[in-house]
Amino acid sequence: MHKELPLIIECRCNEIAMRGDNTALPYSPKEIIREAVLAWKAGASIFHWHGRDPQTGKPRNDVELYLEVIQGIREQTDLLIHPTLGYITQNQIEDRVRHILAVNDDPVLRVDMAPVDFGSLNVDFWNPITKQFNSYDQVYVNSRENLKAVLEVFKKHNVYVSSVCWDVGQMRTARCFQEMGLLPQNTLWEFVFTGEVMPSGAAPTIAGLQAFIAEVPKDNQWLVLCWNGDVMRVASWAIALGGHVAIGLGDHHYSRFGKPHHGELVEKIAQMAHTLNREVATPAQTREILQLPQRSQLPTRATALV
Ligand code: ZN
Repeated sequence: MHKELPLIIECRCNEIAMRGDNTALPYSPKEIIREAVLAWKAGASIFHWHGRDPQTGKPRNDVELYLEVIQGIREQTDLLIHPTLGYITQNQIEDRVRHILAVNDDPVLRVDMAPVDFGSLNVDFWNPITKQFNSYDQVYVNSRENLKAVLEVFKKHNVYVSSVCWDVGQMRTARCFQEMGLLPQNTLWEFVFTGEVMPSGAAPTIAGLQAFIAEVPKDNQWLVLCWNGDVMRVASWAIALGGHVAIGLGDHHYSRFGKPHHGELVEKIAQMAHTLNREVATPAQTREILQLPQRSQLPTRATALV
């Protein structure tokens, strides 16, 4: 009988979300490290974040901001490190990968994976009350020329890539890049569902999930996330079907739980997994499942929680 793999939980702590009244949403490196440790203790094995201005929360690409987070996480946890790419999206490949390449020759600090979004999309927010978009010209540009250039850099520097797909067309595009030999065969597929205010992706429905799953190559791993929406229901289906889950305040405020930190959010996914009789993966198990090199010199949850 096929043995079910343990559940990989990824924490997505900030994205471009603003803090509002929940100070748990981290901007500064210290705040990001704090949330990473809380998420790790609760069961997360992958950590994803965006560089932000420590005071204003504005997007920042500075290598130093990334470096401080990477060092802090490596000192305290064995999390898989998965930073975003730099914010520039038009023909500025160096700015997108600078912080990743800056640590790539360091055996401890080098990141475990980097995400690539496999297409362009309109990202204006929808206001369901006024029945208007808040803007009409916001485009997240990822031309195939840029994708090719980024993937060539990552291949050259041996950086593992997770494939972030907002629809099945982006998955089909990513599979073309696999056939070109530019995207690893063992990529982690990240299915992006979107909430009502961001109608740029699939709604978190069973039918939407099935459409994504139908495009996954044999034996590849996949996870669900929900940008600007609540991931919990689609998370439960993913756990039951053998997929994995990403959650965080970067994607959704989860104010129905008060003002949660990432430890509480990850704990809810871990509890859901236990209820559905599925183990939660340690970072070492996650590296094994994704066929990534182990980082045996790092602190483990088992030793940290004693
Ligand atoms: Zn991100």
